[in-house]
Amino acid sequence: MSLIVQKFGGSSVANAERVMNVARIVTDTFSKGNDVVVVVSAQGDTTDDLIEKANEINPSASRREKDMLLAAGEQISISLLAMAIEKLGFHAVSLLGWQAGFETTSSHTTARIKRVEASRIKKELDKKNIVIVAGFQGISKYGDITTLGRGGSDTSAVAIAAAMHADLCQIYTDVEGVYTADPRKVPNAKKLDEISYDEMLELATLGAQVLNNRSVEMAKKYNIELEVLSSMAKASGTIVKEKTKMEKMLISGVAKDEDVARISVTGVPNVPGFAFKMFSKLSAKDINIDIILQSIGHDGKKDITFTVAKARGAEAVEVLKKYASDIGANEVLYDDKIAKISIVGAGMESHAGVATKMFEALYDAQINIQMISTSEIKVSVLIDQKDADKAVSAIHEKFFD
Ligand code: ASP
Ligand code: MG
Repeated sequence: MSLIVQKFGGSSVANAERVMNVARIVTDTFSKGNDVVVVVSAQGDTTDDLIEKANEINPSASRREKDMLLAAGEQISISLLAMAIEKLGFHAVSLLGWQAGFETTSSHTTARIKRVEASRIKKELDKKNIVIVAGFQGISKYGDITTLGRGGSDTSAVAIAAAMHADLCQIYTDVEGVYTADPRKVPNAKKLDEISYDEMLELATLGAQVLNNRSVEMAKKYNIELEVLSSMAKASGTIVKEKTKMEKMLISGVAKDEDVARISVTGVPNVPGFAFKMFSKLSAKDINIDIILQSIGHDGKKDITFTVAKARGAEAVEVLKKYASDIGANEVLYDDKIAKISIVGAGMESHAGVATKMFEALYDAQINIQMISTSEIKVSVLIDQKDADKAVSAIHEKFFD
């Protein structure tokens, strides 16, 4: 007998028919003699709808109350799924995050899981119940409901798998696995049989929406093998694990991230300390910086350009303008009509010319590159947002056709 954790995303439980479909997948797994713990997200667009409701009343509501509201979405889906399972003649029990033992930090809306105290889950499994846990939520040491940040249910599932030493952690979604590019945008994108944690982590961080990046980080840390697969199609998915049988592929995927804004601070004095002063103002506000580019400078002045998440863009500009004289800046420029396109692949470490091939694809498509950044297993470029889909297709074609 094995312990299997199965996670279902919002689209997999979007309506009654899909909830019944999930109930069948879960009960099939249980009928084969397995213990099953199920983690579910809120149905369809529920979380977005709840955010909208909050904004109608008070856009600057406290984060504690936002969590109280958002956690309600998962309470609906877990109870409905339990009812569907009962209807099929099986025993199920639904548990909210706190009931399932999810102890988190107290940073509301972005809480981190500290521990899963799984005794209640174990007790229910011993009673031969299928256990259904609300994803995305937990409880702080002050006894308040917390949420883990958007897409956090993947992390909930991996955390249970780690805490309970599960034999398998399946992440069911609306695509059949991890693809070489978004299959909804690039029709000839290929499904990968396997991908390493490191590559998946880069892809998840760089905008491939199939897995939440923190869940991959946690899976790597505890060496939990993940299987990403579709709840709609009966096909094998993609396995995410430490070492993959290296297929003869230079890169494993092309990702697009449109949640980027570019900020330029021009005319900064070309003397030591200004980058430090500037970025420390931003880090004091907990604003994350991504790609940074500094010009060589002339006439004793230089420009520093960097990117941030769109949601923090306005705040970052405000901070920099406030300190413009301190940091010696001329002008603070802002642009959020941009996109970051990245290629990821462990093959890059041992092959030259991968970046060149990407740049050639962009040149062929007459797309201008604004900024470039690289690491051992990825190359990212910043381009105009209107060219984003064209760029992904052109790069994908170059590497995979
Ligand atoms: N329901 C939450 C969200 O939409 C968590 C999740 O789906 O993983 O972000
Ligand atoms: Mg969701």
